[in-house]
Amino acid sequence: MANEECAHCGVLITEWSTVAKRDNKIFCCPNCANAHVSSERASAETATG
Ligand SMILES: [Zn+2]
Repeated sequence: MANEECAHCGVLITEWSTVAKRDNKIFCCPNCANAHVSSERASAETATG
């Protein structure tokens, strides 16, 4: 299995039991997945004003 990094915090994923996936991205844990999704939503709302 290839080494992957969390798409939110960038940590090298060595423990796959806690991995969460959103939008074909890999996150070290559900916390990072949720944070990434909510931050993208927030920035989109900011962009549309
Ligand atoms: Zn992470």
